[in-house]
Amino acid sequence: MSAVVDQPYAYQRVELTEPDWRRIPGWSEVTTAEWESAQWQRAHCVKNLRQLREVLGAGLDEAFLADLDRDQRERATMSMLVPPQMLNTMAASDAPGQPGFTEAFYADPVRRYMIPVFSDRRTDWPSHPYASRDSLHEAEMWAVEGLTHRYPTKVLAEVLPTCPQYCGHCTRMDLVGNPTASAGKLKFGLPPADRLAAMIDYLRATPGVRDVVVSGGDVANLPWPRLEAFVGALLDVDSVRDIRLATKALMGLPQHWLADDVRAGMERLGAKARQRGANIAIHAHVNAAQSVTPLVARAAQAMLDTGIRDVRNQGVLLRGVNDSASALLDLCFTLLDGAGIMPYYFYMCDMIPGSEHWRLSLAEAQELQHQIMGYLPGFATPRVVCDVPYVGKRWVHQVSRYDADLGISYWTKNYRTGVEAEDPLALSREYAYYDPIYLLPQRGQAWWRARVAGGLQLVENA
Ligand code: SF4
Repeated sequence: MSAVVDQPYAYQRVELTEPDWRRIPGWSEVTTAEWESAQWQRAHCVKNLRQLREVLGAGLDEAFLADLDRDQRERATMSMLVPPQMLNTMAASDAPGQPGFTEAFYADPVRRYMIPVFSDRRTDWPSHPYASRDSLHEAEMWAVEGLTHRYPTKVLAEVLPTCPQYCGHCTRMDLVGNPTASAGKLKFGLPPADRLAAMIDYLRATPGVRDVVVSGGDVANLPWPRLEAFVGALLDVDSVRDIRLATKALMGLPQHWLADDVRAGMERLGAKARQRGANIAIHAHVNAAQSVTPLVARAAQAMLDTGIRDVRNQGVLLRGVNDSASALLDLCFTLLDGAGIMPYYFYMCDMIPGSEHWRLSLAEAQELQHQIMGYLPGFATPRVVCDVPYVGKRWVHQVSRYDADLGISYWTKNYRTGVEAEDPLALSREYAYYDPIYLLPQRGQAWWRARVAGGLQLVENA
């Protein structure tokens, strides 16, 4: 007989719930049919302060709106775009107008990354001195416009620059979404049809690539016939064996993936992939357990029913959202048990401007990886990864050297990208990644202050 042992994390199966949207003043009359319509959801996304005020009514303090307004004027790198489905999961046990609603809304994990406010951010170091707009240098590695060839056998196809929802911490803030007061956006030069055709031509001519991540933006914003034609053309490239469709909308707008035309189209693509011996998977982006509602589970199941290989989750580690082992394990078990979604990765938040308050140090990420081991099945235990500029994804324990006082970690790589094709040192070089400075001991903070005062010289790529 085994005794019950106290564990740091207590697993408990949780039933999914769809919060009642009728508690929200602007949606008190919305029917289930309207709520479950992708068109209704898209038409009622919250895009600005005025709309947020209209939907939540007087239940949200003006102070919050002023805080949001200041963030949009001074810090935000992404414009606001929140589908009702996502807004409804914020402060779900409270109704606007009840005492404490604004406090609950401020504290909500999904609000913290979808509707960031000025007071969320660091004022000492809002951005790391080495933060940059395209922090992963993806555009530098474009083989053709929008097609990043960063790994030997894999490419990333950025098929469009928009999403049905905009996340405040978006890694692709350089390209994705509408310009904000502090962040203009890169524009593709080629017309969309020519850009996608050039990607297919490149893949036909590059048989060493077997794996294509189709992303953006979010593929849910590409009109279905165009997405189906593109994925169908990928499947016609003999060397392509794995296709991953990146869509946060599986959670943010599950109504899209439940629409009849999309399900029928995915069935056609799933059948074609099976016939070809290739795999299609959907990669979602869910950061908090509360986002996994019955509608999200239905959308994931609908996709699995089309015969595709899998639905997986790539979350982002964000302070105040999911920076504890219990938050990560709650999310993984909810994905797995409730929605049949496979936990896959948690990325450290990338070094884009304004992200310091969200980012964790490497040491914190390593500790979280340690703490989540052993609870989930091995195949569903997510890897916590650092996407190191010019290197690529590395498990957080793969660091080569780590100066925790200065918050600089050093990483090596085992392949070349086109950028280092002629570089004899590419495989012996160390590439740097940086912890948030405010987390460092006094000595480290003083070192960075002196560095910035002295005009900052690159210490990366030693
Ligand atoms: S869904 Fe993905 S690409 Fe779109 S804003 Fe969010 S993080 Fe960026």
